[in-house]
Amino acid sequence: MSVIVVGSMAFDAIETPFGKSDKIVGGAATYIAWCASNFTNVNQISVVGGDFPQEELDALSARGVALDGVEIKKNEKSFFWSGKYHLDMNSRDTLVTELNVLEHFKPVVPDSYQDAEFVMLGNLQPSVQMSVINQLTHRPKLIVMDTMNLWMDIAMDDLKAVLKKIDVLMINDSEARQLSGDYSLVRAAKTIMAMGPKFLIIKKGEHGALLFHEDKVFFAPALPLEEVFDPTGAGDTFAGGFIGHIAKTKDISFENMKTAIIVGSAMASFCVEKFGTQRLREISKEDIANRLQEFVQLVNFDIDLV
Ligand code: AMP
Repeated sequence: MSVIVVGSMAFDAIETPFGKSDKIVGGAATYIAWCASNFTNVNQISVVGGDFPQEELDALSARGVALDGVEIKKNEKSFFWSGKYHLDMNSRDTLVTELNVLEHFKPVVPDSYQDAEFVMLGNLQPSVQMSVINQLTHRPKLIVMDTMNLWMDIAMDDLKAVLKKIDVLMINDSEARQLSGDYSLVRAAKTIMAMGPKFLIIKKGEHGALLFHEDKVFFAPALPLEEVFDPTGAGDTFAGGFIGHIAKTKDISFENMKTAIIVGSAMASFCVEKFGTQRLREISKEDIANRLQEFVQLVNFDIDLV
């Protein structure tokens, strides 16, 4: 079992009401890989500059993340993103986006990745996501895609073309409203599924996530935490937990996707406990099992329907 993961590997500088980080390692594909490698082999596709720390690449390899598809452009700089969170920690402003190596990124899918049955397209230019799909020699069992409002603003046609090729779309509530032009999330889900994806996951930050398929809907809560230290990467970690569970179980039914969004929510709850990827590096299989148990307790109740 393995998953192809595509996305940014980057430097981030983060400001929250609780503190400020220097340039630390981030990027959507970095978070996805740290998380998904708890469940499955990861075949990473990305691009970094000569400034990206070799120790980070070594640490990922040591976890079974294949890096044959990660291009290192020695004389260029890695993607840099900086963001500042508001007091509620749910909303943030992007302060800086320096594309650097991402600007002319032409991903190459190595032959050794071609037998992967699952694909996670992390948030990136839709044309880059499409290029990966087009290089696959066989149709994977499941293609999952993340995206963001930026691409709806500047590359809507490309985005719509990718939507026709994928199975599961993950976006947050404001992005679902923007993409569909509808405030009601239930109607928005119908409109978006008519654009291509058979499954839609709408993330609502600290208010959990909704999974839609045909006329069915399932809700996974987020774990109420005393302290959220840094929400950066929570969405990517959610994606890593979701695809990791699906790849581990090889079951793409709606029932199993319900479990997968609970696993995604549990993993995201670790991510926000420390700056950057730090918490994801520390957690053990036992920590994950215990956190999943907390989710079972959170939503478990009896009701007598008479
Ligand atoms: P999230 O908090 O899950 O939305 O993801 C945050 C991560 O996405 C950060 O580590 C950034 O490096 C990365 N990121 C932010 N903007 C972009 C972009 N335009 N393209 C690719 N990755 C990005």
